[in-house]
Amino acid sequence: MRLTVATHNAHKLVEFARLLPEYELVALPQGSEAPAEDGDSFAANALIKARAGAAVSGGPTVADDSGICVESLGGAPGILSARWAGEECDDAANLQMLIDQTQPGERLEYICAIAFCDPQSGTEEIVEASCLGRRAAEPRGERGFGYDPAFEPLDAPGRTMAELEGDEKDRISHRGGAARALDAWLRAQ
Ligand code: IMP
Repeated sequence: MRLTVATHNAHKLVEFARLLPEYELVALPQGSEAPAEDGDSFAANALIKARAGAAVSGGPTVADDSGICVESLGGAPGILSARWAGEECDDAANLQMLIDQTQPGERLEYICAIAFCDPQSGTEEIVEASCLGRRAAEPRGERGFGYDPAFEPLDAPGRTMAELEGDEKDRISHRGGAARALDAWLRAQ
């Protein structure tokens, strides 16, 4: 099955390629406009992106909205994870915000919603998964992206997400869980 992945995040594309090897994944054309992510949940924003991507691709399209939630901050930054350090910020600035706003050992949660949209049949579906972790004492590791150097998954004690091999991250990550749920749902159709 051919699936357009509506993202401009190259890291997410790499992870989707690993997670959904039996699908023919296609990126959105360069320069296609990103919609305003003005939903009030990961699921709502994933659907906004999947619908906008499907309007461009004309076929089955998926989009991921994800982020990190800090328990002591009432779930912040949550859906604002990509912009925590400001509208024009980068991964390094966001990672520094996490280090500045939390203490080592604090409880963290990654959440990922993936929305599927087929504009021809009108079918839509949203799946969601999470990954629990703790704030590392200091950022470590070169793999992954975003907040991974400061995120020690409960399922990989003593290592950060950025120290895991890709397939190890996939087995325990929020995106891995959501992608497997999407795959199961697609197979059941
Ligand atoms: P989105 O592209 O609007 O969904 O924003 C996702 C934000 O959450 C970005 O800041 C990412 O860095 C962060 N994020 C989502 N998934 C991950 C992950 O697997 N590792 C590290 N950061 C992530």
